[in-house]
Amino acid sequence: MPKILELEQHVADLIAAGEVVQRPSSVVKELMENSIDSGASIVTVEIASGGMTYIRVTDNGCGIAAEDVKTAFLRHATSKLRDAHGLEAIGTLGFRGEALAAIAAVSRVELMTREPGANEGTSLTLEAGVVVNMSPVGSPEGTTIIVRDLFFNTPARLKFMKTDRAESSGVASVVLKCALSRPDISFRFIKDGKTEYHTPGDSRVDSCIYSLLGREIEAGLVSAESSDEAVSVSGFVSTPAAARGNRSYQFFFVNGRVIRSLLLQSALEQAYKNTLPSGRYPSCVLFITTKPGNVDVNVHPAKTEVKFVSEKQIFDGVYYAALGAIDKAQLNSTNSIQAESDSVTLYGSDKNRESGNYNILNTEAQGRTGGYTERRAVRETAGHGGFKTMQADEFLGTYVSEPIKEYPYSNKLSSTPSQFSGSDIPYNTPQNKEDENFTSGSDKDFRLIGEALNVYIIIEYENSIWLIDKHAAHERIHFDALRNGKYETMSESLISPVVCRLGHEDTSLLLDNAGFLETLGFSVESFGEDSVAVRHIPSEIDVGDTESVLSEMCQQLRHGGVALPSQRDGLFKSIACKAAIKAGRASGHRELEALAARVVSGEVSHCPHGRPVAFEITKATLDKGFGRI
Ligand code: ADP
Ligand code: MG
Repeated sequence: MPKILELEQHVADLIAAGEVVQRPSSVVKELMENSIDSGASIVTVEIASGGMTYIRVTDNGCGIAAEDVKTAFLRHATSKLRDAHGLEAIGTLGFRGEALAAIAAVSRVELMTREPGANEGTSLTLEAGVVVNMSPVGSPEGTTIIVRDLFFNTPARLKFMKTDRAESSGVASVVLKCALSRPDISFRFIKDGKTEYHTPGDSRVDSCIYSLLGREIEAGLVSAESSDEAVSVSGFVSTPAAARGNRSYQFFFVNGRVIRSLLLQSALEQAYKNTLPSGRYPSCVLFITTKPGNVDVNVHPAKTEVKFVSEKQIFDGVYYAALGAIDKAQLNSTNSIQAESDSVTLYGSDKNRESGNYNILNTEAQGRTGGYTERRAVRETAGHGGFKTMQADEFLGTYVSEPIKEYPYSNKLSSTPSQFSGSDIPYNTPQNKEDENFTSGSDKDFRLIGEALNVYIIIEYENSIWLIDKHAAHERIHFDALRNGKYETMSESLISPVVCRLGHEDTSLLLDNAGFLETLGFSVESFGEDSVAVRHIPSEIDVGDTESVLSEMCQQLRHGGVALPSQRDGLFKSIACKAAIKAGRASGHRELEALAARVVSGEVSHCPHGRPVAFEITKATLDKGFGRI
């Protein structure tokens, strides 16, 4: 073993800096949080080249006294926390006293600051954490920090930077969340000389949402509130009709801090359980306030994850706030339908009646309600496990390669094979040789009894009854085909491009991976800062699923791109799931039989997500259940 030595201070500082400052967006986040903590009412953020060459954050807050300016850049120097006890009740965003030191260690920093009422301000310049100049300066009240040439002295870190576009969108997303968290502060975000966001700072959540997320999102929201002695929730959630194909517009703030939390996400989505089909997600901007002691923000260095002391209280707060808002929205829409109907009855001109406004609205409403009831009924029936004695035996299956296209969409124009695999057998053509295999089934003899609940194929095979989840089986087949390079998707042109609004980060992720997506049959183009226009999609995927497939893919891409096999698997799963026949839709005899054949032939055992594909109920089990043996 080499001798153990203590790291030199500057090396230790660089390591510590790496934890706080990972990319331009983390610098912007820390600087904005400092500005918010300074009590500012106006904050301006400006970046150039994704923040790599230039970041400037200006505020009109409390400023820093001349004698404290240098101290602010020391590690663990903070004005916000005095002792361990204070950690429990932390009310400010920053508290570790690390940010300025960490940022300065890996860049060239210029600070200008003046306390309100002070005669003059102070200017401080640092390079790689070392002070190069400090002098009095005429400066407006508040603080301006300019960070240039991020990571200029840490080339290893520089290599990890993404494209300027991706870094910019990371910054934009941080600014958006910060700005959303404080409707009482006016934020301006300037990117490469152009103003991207400007919030009014009038303390109104709706006007803040409008200026950051746009008219369309704002219009689909209704206010949501709940409170009890431990937790209060306020903000906005989307009406069921305004649900989206992704979760990009779910924002949760706990005690003013933006938080990622599965608990909050599932509390929100539970509230929509009976009003949204799967694959549709609510949006929200929710502010959750609870006693500081209820939340442990110290679990994550970036402070974006929290632990709640009482998860149930928090869950209920969000759940009931959303539920109340949904009820209100539905009541409003029923009222407006009623009002429409009244107006037709009372004042209805012939023109009105001819145009059938009333009828259309009413039918839609009935259709929708009908849909919910039906879905609930299916779930309940399925939930009453009549087959308690069933056992999930081991089943193996082989891959079937015929995708069953049920609903041809008129939006699709033409097909061109994409170049994903080297296989020369077209994957999805009815003339396909494998299609013959598909119909002829396997050499195993089984008898198709039918389909139950539009989900389960029932077959009789070797003295047993098998129940097969048709979606899971088909999904596995697609997945294996994709993974083994046997998948040659047909890419279909859409008559009109589908515009998917996925948020900044996902948009730039998709654009940066456009080449790979093309190999899977998608063509995506930039469409404004936070949207992509999709002109081609794989023929196996419904047009209506485009947004949700792309957004699922983003989740994979976010965690490491397409280079890793596990990441590719994740992408394949998304496509396989969407391309597979849907549970809940009736299928033809031929496709049921073909799927069952693949399952009994022994290669398909679990869906790509690990759920079993089939259940076997042996004759012995049945006989026993009926008291025959
Ligand atoms: P922390 O925010 O965790 O205290 P930082 O390194 O981010 O640590 O900042 C160190 C200190 O510098 C803060 O505690 C605060 O006193 C001061 N400071 C930093 N930015 C500003 C600002 N924009 N306005 C006023 N004071 C600031
Ligand atoms: Mg700070």
